[in-house]
Amino acid sequence: MADKKQNRRNNRNNDEDYNPKFRKIRKKVCPMCANKDFVLDYKNADQLRKFINDKGKILPRRATGACAKHQRDITTAVKRARHIAVLPYSEN
Ligand SMILES: [Zn+2]
Repeated sequence: MADKKQNRRNNRNNDEDYNPKFRKIRKKVCPMCANKDFVLDYKNADQLRKFINDKGKILPRRATGACAKHQRDITTAVKRARHIAVLPYSEN
């Protein structure tokens, strides 16, 4: 624990780019905008599994990387899939 703190302090001094407030700024590209052939299908469980966690909850945008428009599509698709029992409402 103390080592970690020490390490962080050293990092700040040695590495000018290091700023804990802006760690790893990696712009995610929306998977659906990037791939024009990608068609979101609410009957395709394997596809939708990528957008839910192990509890069956829909992942947030920061995790899926989807843009607002496509995140909305994902949400709708997952909810439709749940309704027709392709996906679970909850697991465990
Ligand atoms: Zn998109």
